Amino acid sequence: MPERIYNFSPGPATLPYSVLQQAATDIVNFNNKGIGLIELSHRSKEFIAVADETESLIRELMGIPAHYKVLFLQGGASSQFFMVPMNLLAQGQKATYLNTGTWSKKAIKEAKLFATVDVAYSSEDINFKRVPRDDEYSVDPESQYLYFVTNNTIYGTQFQTMPAKDALLIADMSSDILSRPVDVSRFGLIFAGAQKNMGPAGVTVVIIREDLLDRVSDSVPSMLKYKTHAEKDSMFNTPPCFSIYCVGQVMHWLKTMGGIGAMEKINQDKAALLYEAIDSTDFYRGHAEKESRSLMNITFNLPTPELEARFIAEATAAGLDGLKGHRSVGGCRASIYNAFPRAGVEKLVEFMADFARKNG
Ligand SMILES: *Cc1c(COP(=O)(O)O)cnc(C)c1O
Repeated sequence: MPERIYNFSPGPATLPYSVLQQAATDIVNFNNKGIGLIELSHRSKEFIAVADETESLIRELMGIPAHYKVLFLQGGASSQFFMVPMNLLAQGQKATYLNTGTWSKKAIKEAKLFATVDVAYSSEDINFKRVPRDDEYSVDPESQYLYFVTNNTIYGTQFQTMPAKDALLIADMSSDILSRPVDVSRFGLIFAGAQKNMGPAGVTVVIIREDLLDRVSDSVPSMLKYKTHAEKDSMFNTPPCFSIYCVGQVMHWLKTMGGIGAMEKINQDKAALLYEAIDSTDFYRGHAEKESRSLMNITFNLPTPELEARFIAEATAAGLDGLKGHRSVGGCRASIYNAFPRAGVEKLVEFMADFARKNG
């Protein structure tokens, strides 16, 4: 393996090195067939086998019931902000949203174009440092669904358990899909942009309960209907072939790691190392409240913006890249998705102790 830096970027993010190597080989000569992976027709039996295998691995790893469709769409997770209400709500209907960060706020804005939005909870006034407990909000029985973001990538908060509400759950899992076991049967729809925890940018995975496909009105354009893509096995038009292939490779890797249950333990262990480093001194201050802490994106501040800037610059020079927090929170953020190695977290923890000693 060539020397690699530790990449704490929030997305696109670190991928398993074995996946990068396999992709590099297959791009030039796929399965020794004398044709490159990204030259294959999406209608070829070779590529259809790739897409089928990617889907069946996602189904197997997540335990997706048979009455759910798995779709490979484009337009990023952001397109789901309008596709969800456009497909699931009729005019005059209502949906409930939990406002726990930038991504939910954007989804709320789009949903308002289609229906009445009830924001049942918001942590905006405390800079999104927490997500709600079940007893902090209620869902109007008239509401068609409850929409929430399982992991708030920018603020470093995460639902530790899924809302126990008697409502159709819709979740943006872009930054924590496949990081822990989830009971898919409790959801109407789950979506995730691949570039955080599944592969490269370019494909958005949508998992939708079949009966919801028929809710869409005839006035919605074909490309924007889930039903169109479900009926054509995500081959209505040219799908993002390379991204789908890479997601499949990451799924193979996840299986070799022991699946999602094993991955959850690894993620808990990595995050605990970093949170211990933050909690062991007053020098570092975690942004998220403890009960809401994310295992994927760990956000923290230093005593001053000047120290934060120096911390990030010195970390970068030491091969710890991508630690700058999102511009809306400032500070630092370490994104440590499934493929981020424990050794990188250990190196960061050492660096943090050293930096605090010199500057504290
Ligand atoms: C990154 C992210 C998005 C936006 O993804 P795009 O693919 O860039 O549109 C949406 N939701 C969450 C939770 C994210 O982390």
